[in-house]
Amino acid sequence: MAEIMTLCYICGKPAKHVCKLCGKHVCDRHFDAKLGICTSCKKGRKLG
Ligand SMILES: [Zn+2]
Ligand SMILES: [Zn+2]
Repeated sequence: MAEIMTLCYICGKPAKHVCKLCGKHVCDRHFDAKLGICTSCKKGRKLG
């Protein structure tokens, strides 16, 4: 258990990012680098 693989909570693939809104881990496909949030939050919230 030396290394913990963090997985995207949407698709289950290895995640590199953390959503600023919900704090969940997401992969590149489910992360919006401009907003710093996951695609799920992007859909559910109206920003800007
Ligand atoms: Zn994903
Ligand atoms: Zn999120």
